[in-house]
Amino acid sequence: MTKQTGVLSRREALALAATATGALVAGCADSAPAAAGKHVIVVGAGLAGLGAAATLRAKGIDVTVVEARDRIGGRVHSVERYGTTIDLGASWIHDSRGNPLTAVAKSAGISTIPTDYDIHQLRTPSKAAVSRAVVAKQIDKRDSIIDWLSTQADNDPNAILAPVLARELAKQHQSGVSAQTLNWLLGVEMPLDVAAAPAQMTLEGFDEGDTWNGGPDLMIRGGAIQLVNKIAEGTKVETGVEVTSISTGRSGVTLKTRSGSVLTADGCVVAVPLGVLKASGIKFDPPLPSATRRAIARVGFGLLNKSFLSYDAPWWDPNTVQLGTIGSSIAETISVFPLAKLTGKPLAVGFTGGSYGAALERRGAGKTAAAVIERMRLGFGDTGVPAQSSQTDWLGEKFTRGSYSYLAPGSSASDRVALGKLNGRLILAGEHTSTNRPATMDGAWLAGRTAASRLAATLP
Ligand SMILES: Cc1cc2nc3c(=O)[nH]c(=O)nc-3n(C[C@H](O)[C@H](O)[C@H](O)COP(=O)(O)OP(=O)(O)OC[C@H]3O[C@@H](n4cnc5c(N)ncnc54)[C@H](O)[C@@H]3O)c2cc1C
Repeated sequence: MTKQTGVLSRREALALAATATGALVAGCADSAPAAAGKHVIVVGAGLAGLGAAATLRAKGIDVTVVEARDRIGGRVHSVERYGTTIDLGASWIHDSRGNPLTAVAKSAGISTIPTDYDIHQLRTPSKAAVSRAVVAKQIDKRDSIIDWLSTQADNDPNAILAPVLARELAKQHQSGVSAQTLNWLLGVEMPLDVAAAPAQMTLEGFDEGDTWNGGPDLMIRGGAIQLVNKIAEGTKVETGVEVTSISTGRSGVTLKTRSGSVLTADGCVVAVPLGVLKASGIKFDPPLPSATRRAIARVGFGLLNKSFLSYDAPWWDPNTVQLGTIGSSIAETISVFPLAKLTGKPLAVGFTGGSYGAALERRGAGKTAAAVIERMRLGFGDTGVPAQSSQTDWLGEKFTRGSYSYLAPGSSASDRVALGKLNGRLILAGEHTSTNRPATMDGAWLAGRTAASRLAATLP
């Protein structure tokens, strides 16, 4: 969801390098005509697939993009609801300064608004307001803990986050509202950002990913799909085509689809989510290399769901960015963002994530939104209960099966390298293959472009 802490010291140190890469990629000509005249099939029309297609086309390669759903965008999915446009998937351009998607937004005339996450309206479960002074103090503590975890990640990257964090929190000697506020603030950074609870991820997993060059995260007015549409310009996509198997041979690739059709090409970019690969949604013949298969099994695929709460009128302080009821464990944190400034409607979006978010979704239709509403009622009374609500169910989406990837215990950043490795005439692409910007829109887009260049450079 967010990359929101102000303590990005280690990440900032990497930002210069990342910015240099960004400038190179954003400005690259994509023009080497090495494989001109060849034909490549791209499977999946998310940002990775569309990025790959644009790069291949720029090299003079004939491209066919096939997409299982009846729409493009994948995990970028904007819909009309409650009299406005809402994003069921990605909604923020993170680290806007240097993020190449900021330039895409500008060139497409897309309107954005910056997010300052640390403006909260927090309540205890007995409906008492948490004072600004307590929140400010706990924000400082959160930032120093995140900084400290970043150092620990350098020392012991494979350690599971939960016990390390528990030991550090025990040293804080806090109780009551202070401890609960700190837990809530950390929860926003863990299940609601990484899409995994502290017990599900490693220290490296919590710390992975570079920033661009700082700058506020930008929410996109009118839906993030506008970015996708801009990137898709000029690329033809065949929707409603589910690929079920891919065979690679010396002379090319053969793909079979759910409807029984057979497609052939010189090479293939498989830009489907890690969740689909984990569920063997596509059969590979011969099987993918063992290092790739191990990486598919080891890297985690987390969950972040959104619940939309539509009220009769806005009731929160107009400057509030996050509403929350403290008192839950870190893993069960729920945060609610008012969307009135973005949409002009009395609307808010609640986030649930990680193992808790998955358990709520598995309980059945409407249970996630019901949990979000109950949490709001606990802290804010009947005022917090919306007139209408709806929720996403990303785990149950056949063509995603979760929200985005993270480093689970047993995996490491080298698994992401294995995922993105060229395998003859076939290469995987997606946010899960990005080493510096996993779990983001820009990471997916750039990973697709990189995969396309790698494949094009070696097509016989
Ligand atoms: C709730 C949520 C919130 C998020 N918030 C943000 C955010 O604020 N900012 C941000 O930067 N990122 C965010 N992300 C992450 C971001 O959306 C993803 O990293 C990115 O969109 C992934 O792009 P992709 O191309 O790798 O995969 P996808 O977008 O998932 O595209 C893969 C495509 O493959 C298709 N496909 C699957 N199986 C088959 C098959 N068998 N045959 C043919 N096609 C198939 C799918 O239908 C899909 O269209 C969020 C994600 C979620 C779910």
